[in-house]
Amino acid sequence: IRGVSFGYDDGSGKAVVSDITFGLPAGKVTALIGPSGSGKSTIADMLLGLLEPTAGKILVDGVEIDAGNRRRWRDQVAYVPQDVFLLHDTIAANLRLAAPQASDDDLWTALRAAHAGDFVERLDQRLETVVGDRGVRLSGGERQRIALARALLRKPSLLILDEATSALDWQNQSLIARSIDGLRGAMTILTIAHRPSMIAFADWVVAMEDGRVVEVGQYQRLKAKPASRLSRMLSGEQS
Ligand code: ATP
Ligand code: MG
Repeated sequence: IRGVSFGYDDGSGKAVVSDITFGLPAGKVTALIGPSGSGKSTIADMLLGLLEPTAGKILVDGVEIDAGNRRRWRDQVAYVPQDVFLLHDTIAANLRLAAPQASDDDLWTALRAAHAGDFVERLDQRLETVVGDRGVRLSGGERQRIALARALLRKPSLLILDEATSALDWQNQSLIARSIDGLRGAMTILTIAHRPSMIAFADWVVAMEDGRVVEVGQYQRLKAKPASRLSRMLSGEQS
């Protein structure tokens, strides 16, 4: 992400993100932290190819994302949001939204990587259990793990989790955290989070405030020697 700025076309003329530069090291976990409104989700939307920077560039392996390759790039990115939407259909059908050709074995592999294998195994109909509005009510943490499995089925080169665990209890947070830890090296991961629990396993941290990057560094370095209000959060002074 090189010198990227973005402003919504809402007449305010305000830049939501200003001259942002940082890298996402391949195969590593990068945490993007910052207060509400600082521009984190806007950056995620640009990485997902849903928004175009008004200035600057986003490069993947040195190649700028542009109109010609944006669609191809979108196929390589997977996204897990805070609010997961599941169709009123079977778990298998929900997972196959991401990979229509996937075999049952593929589905189980993805579910296990997302720490969802155990609870799906315990459901009466397993993969054929109908979930969603009028089906079996899954907990927030279970829905989140299904969403992670669905994202993994796309075999992304970049996985983005935007506050994916903010609403979950510590047990579900730590299950997702362990999944992410297990994916390290297999794909590049960007996790957007407020809470230290979702940052503790990150290799790199990018701290944002008011549309600008205020600090970038290795997690251990930021934790030991915080240089901004945000990185002081990592040592547990605030949460
Ligand atoms: P949070 O932690 O609350 O999710 P965030 O860091 O993800 O916040 P963004 O969602 O990127 O922040 O929003 C950054 C700024 O852009 C905010 O001031 C927000 O009001 C503004 N914004 C977001 N979406 C739009 C939109 N569609 N039109 C106009 N302004 C928007
Ligand atoms: Mg956000």
